Amino acid sequence: MEKLIVASNNKGKIAEIKAILSDMYDVRSLKEENLVSDPEETGATFVENAVIKAKAVYELTGIATLADDSGLVVDALGGAPGVQSARYSGTHGNDEKNNELLLKNLDGITDRTARFECAVALVKSDGEVIVAEGSTEGEILFSRKGEGGFGYDPLFYSYDLKKSFGMATAKEKNAVSHRARALAALEKKVRS
Ligand code: IMP
Repeated sequence: MEKLIVASNNKGKIAEIKAILSDMYDVRSLKEENLVSDPEETGATFVENAVIKAKAVYELTGIATLADDSGLVVDALGGAPGVQSARYSGTHGNDEKNNELLLKNLDGITDRTARFECAVALVKSDGEVIVAEGSTEGEILFSRKGEGGFGYDPLFYSYDLKKSFGMATAKEKNAVSHRARALAALEKKVRS
């Protein structure tokens, strides 16, 4: 079976991708392939960043590679934090500080509609690039609710689930998440 490298070491993401594509590809993480790749995410969009990440590994290996990029888009903040989601407060991956800043920037704002967006990019072994996107709608709460998930999950009230992502089980979140939807859209394109 053809190998597919997932340009990530995030176990949750890899498991999701395996569940969807393991009948077509032998899905492997960067770690399993002894690879390190951390290109600068200089894109202005999620799609551009997903393509940057997938191409970086493909150019290193010549093996089909899948990458994703995602973030939170808040209407009242002109789309911020957007592609800056992981480093919104200045420190990469500091969820606590990022949530703090989001609440501060929305102080006094009642229009709190938002969505999580995800782009996935697949570079096939012949170099062909296929991209797909997914999103999930909701609004930003006034305080954290729930301990589950990661990132902005405790502050994101999901219209689909009628509760915060922080209060949802992994299974519930995966049923409606931006990432699951992007992967489903990609799966359709890959199989057509
Ligand atoms: P990345 O695409 O894994 O680099 O994620 C970018 C950032 O967006 C994360 O660090 C989180 O802050 C945020 N993010 C992306 N997806 C989610 C999610 O499902 N829940 C909460 N935060 C998310």
